[in-house]
Amino acid sequence: MSRYDIVIIGAGIAGASLAARVAPHARVLMIEAETQPGYHATGRSAAFWSETYGGPDIQPLSIASHPFLIDPPAEMGGESFLTPRGQLFIAARADRQVLDGFAETFAAAGVTLTETDPATRCPGLRPEWSEGLWDPTCSDIDVARLHAAWLALARRGGAELVCSANVTGAKREGHWRVETRAGVFEGDVLVNAAGAWADPVAQLAGASAIGVTPLRRTMVQLRVDPPATAALPLVTDARDRFYFKPEAGRLWLSPHDEIPSIPCDAAPDELDVAIAIDKLQSAVDWRIEAVERKWAGLRSFAPDRKPVYGFDPARAGALLVRRAGRFRHPDCPRRVEAGGGDAAAHRARPDGRASRPRTLFDPAVSRLNGWTRRAALLSFGLRNEGA
Ligand SMILES: Cc1cc2nc3c(=O)[nH]c(=O)nc-3n(C[C@H](O)[C@H](O)[C@H](O)COP(=O)(O)OP(=O)(O)OC[C@H]3O[C@@H](n4cnc5c(N)ncnc54)[C@H](O)[C@@H]3O)c2cc1C
Repeated sequence: MSRYDIVIIGAGIAGASLAARVAPHARVLMIEAETQPGYHATGRSAAFWSETYGGPDIQPLSIASHPFLIDPPAEMGGESFLTPRGQLFIAARADRQVLDGFAETFAAAGVTLTETDPATRCPGLRPEWSEGLWDPTCSDIDVARLHAAWLALARRGGAELVCSANVTGAKREGHWRVETRAGVFEGDVLVNAAGAWADPVAQLAGASAIGVTPLRRTMVQLRVDPPATAALPLVTDARDRFYFKPEAGRLWLSPHDEIPSIPCDAAPDELDVAIAIDKLQSAVDWRIEAVERKWAGLRSFAPDRKPVYGFDPARAGALLVRRAGRFRHPDCPRRVEAGGGDAAAHRARPDGRASRPRTLFDPAVSRLNGWTRRAALLSFGLRNEGA
């Protein structure tokens, strides 16, 4: 039976990035239920990075991730993961105060959103959308390449990945004994990076579920006339009812839905697709020629919609790393620094208790400190609030 220092459940962007960071310091195993990593939320995103992501609580992390994403180190390939896109927030005259409130909130955080005439940024926009704010920094993220780069870095550091290995049980017998469809694995620290399955995975390890709720988000790929050129920005309704952006000559559209779901292989509901198209037609005068693709994914949130990562107070050697809501990739490099550091520190202590965690982000620090006083199951979670 194989024995590891750190066993990570889930090889999405959270699990893969953590594995990459801790692999040089520990024997690491990633366990993935699917036949390939990235099948769930990581492979289904709208793939944009925005300074305003996640609201004011999270936005400092998004900003802190920018230098890494735009100028990654050689070990991550050295080529930017971001392509400039720009983000246009639109509103009708009656909703002017929504845009003003948004601009004020982010001005306090040092993010400048400038007034713009929305029609000049998005040709075909209906005249009733007369109010606009412009964020030039918003970018597309090459999610597939970012995820692959984390996996490759993890592998080069010696981490192993086992796929088709749904975890069905985990017991603490001095160390963790993890039962999967592909066999049994042992480790000193168990990391819960299971995304929408964060709560069930916590429970099967005897750790406390913290009430992570998966919320379904629908995406539709349309062929429109005139074609969606690369010059279009990400266009976001100030009231959060839809967003759309160009993608390889097509349009990616979301009704910005958040439908509570059980953890599952999420599929789009026809009604949500119809709602998305209806919202688009209320915004632009383009002709919809074809619905080419539709998909849905689960964005998972703790009750306060903030990131969760730290050792479970009741289960020794168990770390939760859960990304909350709207906020996957932007924060990932920073969270990994914190999560990876914790996992390594925990392993180093002979009493099995975690050292004080390192993190860059106050809300998480306080949550982590509470959890790590007694240390046990590490969960690494990612936040998703709006994308
Ligand atoms: C439609 C949509 C659009 C989005 N748009 C954006 C965006 O534009 N920008 C942005 O930053 N973020 C966006 N997000 C959010 C982002 O995709 C997620 O925050 C991120 O991918 C979460 O990564 P993860 O690794 O935590 O979860 P996942 O990618 O879901 O990975 C969790 C993994 O754990 C595995 N697993 C679960 N249970 C078990 C088990 N028992 N045993 C073994 N393995 C298990 C699963 O198979 C899965 O592969 C979007 C999300 C969705 C759904």
